[in-house]
Amino acid sequence: MSFENLGLHEALVRSVKDAGYETATEIQAQAIPAALKGVDLMGSSRTGSGKTAAFVLPALDKILAARQADAARPRGKNYGPRVLVLAPTRELAQQVAKAAQTYGRHVPGLRICTVLGGMPYPLQIKQLTAPLDILIATPGRLMDHIQSGKCVLDNVQMLVLDEADRMLDMGFIDDIKFIADKTPAERQTVMFSATFAGHVGRLAQDLLRDPLRVDV
Ligand code: AMP
Repeated sequence: MSFENLGLHEALVRSVKDAGYETATEIQAQAIPAALKGVDLMGSSRTGSGKTAAFVLPALDKILAARQADAARPRGKNYGPRVLVLAPTRELAQQVAKAAQTYGRHVPGLRICTVLGGMPYPLQIKQLTAPLDILIATPGRLMDHIQSGKCVLDNVQMLVLDEADRMLDMGFIDDIKFIADKTPAERQTVMFSATFAGHVGRLAQDLLRDPLRVDV
């Protein structure tokens, strides 16, 4: 399927063209139109299937759609991110951030922040208290920032859990529940996991509303 037919903002179609993509992958063709409608998603996909763009492109679309409302808001307040992505490892989080930069190259003034364990706190705090569109974080470090009052999640419209099974294997279940609880209940939630058996399935039940299942 061509990217023009998925319902994405023209600026995003342009950036995938710049990246040299000709057609959407199967997971993108399934997930993007549904995510643009606001539907919750639970997905399993092989590595290399194009999963990152499947959630980053709709996330950027939401950010573009919210730009006018953002501009009208009083300045000086910390509104926090519109999109929050949780990932199990620094490497994966950095990969998502890179993808957001690539696909967001025609989004004016796009502000992306990564909050990763094992990195110094001061720069993260500075970035978290400045205006922000997308926050990509590992759960443990984000918990620290929430508990110290440095991170506000009241404006999150889309919460993404990437490789949820790995996050749970690493013992992040309570952190994830705590973090999700700090985001608005009416948010859209997207969860990717190699499996939805056992505790991952229970977490999906807790966090997702009438999800569409996308498996490729
Ligand atoms: P991912 O599965 O998200 O890690 O993506 C795997 C690789 O596929 C990345 O290097 C992407 O740049 C690339 N990719 C993603 N979507 C497409 C597409 N529609 N056409 C060609 N390459 C793509």
